Amino acid sequence: MHKEDFSHHAPSYYAASANQSPGRPALAGKVRADVCVIGAGFTGISTALHLAEAGYKVIVLEAARVGWGASGRNGGQIVNSYSRDIDVIEARHGKEAAARLGAMAFEGGRIIRERIKQYGIQCDLKDGNVFAAFTQKQLDELSAKKALWERYGHTGIRMVDKAGMRGIVDSDAYCGALLDTWGGHLHPLNLVLGEAAAFESLGGVICEMSPVTALVEGEPARVRTASGEVEADFVVVAGNAYLGNLIPRLAEKTLPCGTQVVTTAPLDAALARSLLPGDNCVEDCNFLLDYYRLTADHRLLYGGGTVYGARDPGEIESLIRPKLEKTFPQLAGVKIDYTWTGNFSLTLSRLPQAGRIGRNVYYSQGCSGHGVTYTHLAGRLLSEAIRGQNGRFDAFAALPHYPFPGGRLLRVPMLTLGAWWYGVRDKVGV
Ligand SMILES: Cc1cc2nc3c(=O)[nH]c(=O)nc-3n(C[C@H](O)[C@H](O)[C@H](O)COP(=O)(O)OP(=O)(O)OC[C@H]3O[C@@H](n4cnc5c(N)ncnc54)[C@H](O)[C@@H]3O)c2cc1C
Repeated sequence: MHKEDFSHHAPSYYAASANQSPGRPALAGKVRADVCVIGAGFTGISTALHLAEAGYKVIVLEAARVGWGASGRNGGQIVNSYSRDIDVIEARHGKEAAARLGAMAFEGGRIIRERIKQYGIQCDLKDGNVFAAFTQKQLDELSAKKALWERYGHTGIRMVDKAGMRGIVDSDAYCGALLDTWGGHLHPLNLVLGEAAAFESLGGVICEMSPVTALVEGEPARVRTASGEVEADFVVVAGNAYLGNLIPRLAEKTLPCGTQVVTTAPLDAALARSLLPGDNCVEDCNFLLDYYRLTADHRLLYGGGTVYGARDPGEIESLIRPKLEKTFPQLAGVKIDYTWTGNFSLTLSRLPQAGRIGRNVYYSQGCSGHGVTYTHLAGRLLSEAIRGQNGRFDAFAALPHYPFPGGRLLRVPMLTLGAWWYGVRDKVGV
């Protein structure tokens, strides 16, 4: 098992194909800012960019490199709504909560597209994501999702039947799908690097290799690293699954989970096109789901797993290759060029957690595997709240945040047990 290297991005396809980005010096000495953001992933950089656009003086402290965490390692899938959908929100938290969160369910994807256009970010954006069903039950659930999303104003979704699947994905695995044309896929590391450059172009400051070691609450708050301190009117905690135990009351409410990704060698262009004729990204409907898409240079990027802590490249390939070859038997023996793992943050409710600690420390975490869009929405909501417009942020902050039962020690075994149970459920189709 190799250890995390904080000075370099994970050895991914993304790191190998990243746009040029400068190294940034670590924090040195005492600095004053309006807002200090902890973590330079989508949540942190998106918040920082919104605030810089509004004229705030913002400094971002990143333990490793911009996009080093999940944001620079993920499947790149723009998936709308939340990890638990609006109907679940309505059932658990009532009609009003569902209406408020439902009104924002497709906003994150719009923000991403606005950013790409406004700042000319090169990140291989493609439209269209597909939820693929193995069983009639899953297909019925997708049909219900379509009706639900249409009630909340989505006009770009359609069902695909078994016959139509050939135009979507060249695999016998599925009986149908839901195609969301407002979803899509992109190179996530290049997106966050581009957003970071946009933030810096507005005068924002990012310090890399600057792990925050202490947060002292107060007005102003103080954020400390080994070599410096930021005094700020507001702090945004955006460390998500990599935050560790910096703020124990946040740590106890989430569980970092690993998911693994492989990328093949470049495929013959015609073969690549035949696998995914619409060039959409796909995620299946299992709880322990597989997700995949083509890259701009005709590789198949395939993820799955959800195994806490699997890091060794051989271990990752032996975990993901059988899944890839089951979906695409025509790729048996294909060369794998890159393997990597990354952590996302799971919550017990599988809904994101946003809130305040005291008056001026804000946080957002726990997108439970579907964070590319939510983190961009969160960035806007955090910036609105800091500017004194609390309404939309509070719609999320009002959701209850449950601690994992059993505390820190039992969280990992509990998840392993949970993953085993959901794996059984996926297999027997209940
Ligand atoms: C392999 C993988 C595949 C995924 N695929 C998808 C997908 O296809 N679609 C989708 O919607 N979602 C996907 N997700 C989830 C999505 O990537 C995340 O929800 C999202 O990127 C989280 O962004 P973030 O900014 O909150 O956290 P991160 O991107 O993890 O950023 C947190 C940052 O905070 C820094 N940090 C932590 N502690 C400190 C500290 N003390 N001091 C300073 N800095 C600190 C870390 O170094 C890190 O850079 C995937 C996740 C993984 C891991």
